[in-house]
Amino acid sequence: MAKENLNPFVIAKEQIDRAGKKLKLEPGLLEILKHPKRELTVNFPVKMDDGTTKVFTGYRVQYNDARGPFKGGIRYHWNVSLDEVRALSCWMTWKCAVMDIPYGGAKGGIICNPKEMSKSELERMTRRYASEISIIIGPQKDIPAPDVYTDSQTMAWIMDTLSMNQGFAVPGSVTGKPISIGGSLGRDEATSRGLMYATREAAKRMKLNVKGSTVAVQGFGNVGYHYARLMQDELGAKIVAVSDSKGGIYSERGFDPKQVLVYKEKTGSVVGYPGTKKISNEDLLELDVDILAPSALENVITSENADRIRAKISAEGANGPTTPEADDILFKKGVLVIPDILANGGGVTVSYFEWVQDLANFFWTKQEVDQRLEGIMTRAFEGVWNMHNEKKVDMRQAAYMVAISRVVEAYKWRGIYP
Ligand code: NAD
Repeated sequence: MAKENLNPFVIAKEQIDRAGKKLKLEPGLLEILKHPKRELTVNFPVKMDDGTTKVFTGYRVQYNDARGPFKGGIRYHWNVSLDEVRALSCWMTWKCAVMDIPYGGAKGGIICNPKEMSKSELERMTRRYASEISIIIGPQKDIPAPDVYTDSQTMAWIMDTLSMNQGFAVPGSVTGKPISIGGSLGRDEATSRGLMYATREAAKRMKLNVKGSTVAVQGFGNVGYHYARLMQDELGAKIVAVSDSKGGIYSERGFDPKQVLVYKEKTGSVVGYPGTKKISNEDLLELDVDILAPSALENVITSENADRIRAKISAEGANGPTTPEADDILFKKGVLVIPDILANGGGVTVSYFEWVQDLANFFWTKQEVDQRLEGIMTRAFEGVWNMHNEKKVDMRQAAYMVAISRVVEAYKWRGIYP
């Protein structure tokens, strides 16, 4: 058991404190940065398929809009809590700032078990939740997107619910939509493509040849799957381990993630894929690989196991996979952590592209999307890398220092903190 506090919002505030100290921020300013601007809790009824009625609890937290409208995903999970949504909305703020895109940060979630709900129950729950939070979201105010166990279908239902109330289609109200209703080419793989570019930039600086390097990916959902595929198909890396909520698989010789996906779609899990050995999610993290990509949930690398991480690079596809105590241990060991707010910023970057395309009613080719994403990710990585070298801090503190400085600058111009 890890000895540190694993409450994600406590961790998020500690990360602000650490960077704030290095930036010598005034205590009053730090206090503002550690508080969400607005929080909405909604309890709403949903008719279940068996005729009973269930009350669900959902949240939307709008953390900071100093640099632009609020932006952030919606999560469906049984462990959703107000503090988790606060932390995720806080991380969104720094993510948009470090990528230098004109958004603030927000996040939403519903406490539910989507795996046990039918599609029509999910649709009714989504529409009711969208209706309840519609008083604070919209294309100029706060733009949701998918997160854990929500997808393009969820976004389409939200867009339709908001559009029904307006009387016309409002595609700019959510991102991560299907292409036919205003989605962007490349959005489905954008987080992973950005993660791949960030890994490439890190490897260059570590003098690690990505071609032939070994990669272990925790989580085989939207982020983990596309990352494994792109690392193999575009950079020639060898995928030796992947996992999902049922466990992981390992093969020294490597395997093709596209074939593993076909197997998972048939059987419900990656576990049992022919030619691989079953491993636990914990074992996967400690494998002797070049690149580790924690791409499932929070707090998987803690003070308890950080010392046993053997990867040279940890590319954080997930939000909040590493605790501050674990960061210190990894930094001392020389593991290069590409922090979540930078590493998985490709998702919100292409969400930003989607929103821009919706507002302009003018759509880009996949090549244009990828090229622009590559430019933004490479520049963001360079900014954080330079801060890391100049100030002799770990990559997470460097990313926070870049992001917080940008938000503080916006505060000063706007007079929010004169
Ligand atoms: P997803 O729902 O598509 O996939 C989640 C994956 O994690 C699934 O394979 C699931 O089986 C696995 N999983 C669940 N519980 C697990 C456990 N206890 N151990 C190991 N694996 C487990 O979600 P996603 O969109 O891929 O999101 C994954 C992470 O990436 C989250 O932290 C999310 O906040 C973050 N993220 C997602 C995006 C995006 O664009 N989707 C963008 C930025 C960050």
